[in-house]
Amino acid sequence: MHKIRDGDLYRVVELFGRRFELRYGYYEEYERHSGEPVPIYPDFKKSPVYSEDGRPFVTQMQELCAHGESKFTDGCCVDCKHYSHGDDLIGICTNEKNMKGN
Ligand code: SF4
Repeated sequence: MHKIRDGDLYRVVELFGRRFELRYGYYEEYERHSGEPVPIYPDFKKSPVYSEDGRPFVTQMQELCAHGESKFTDGCCVDCKHYSHGDDLIGICTNEKNMKGN
């Protein structure tokens, strides 16, 4: 069986005019010593990316933002009523308050 290596392509997600190449890797340096590489998702909080109509991309596991609305206080974007499913764990935030330029 093919062993997964750091940097191998996991998959390509194309959504709303943007293309995300997801590769295997490690979120933390110490994880290199303890396990297999995992698919690395973009950190949209650190480096925002917007759809062509100005809506921010988010990952399902992204922490609830200041404008998030969820029944869980420690929820994630996937629990928020403004989350719109895209492909894999990447979606779009439909909250007008988070649109580009707001
Ligand atoms: S408003 Fe958007 S960015 Fe904020 S938690 Fe909800 S889906 Fe995520």
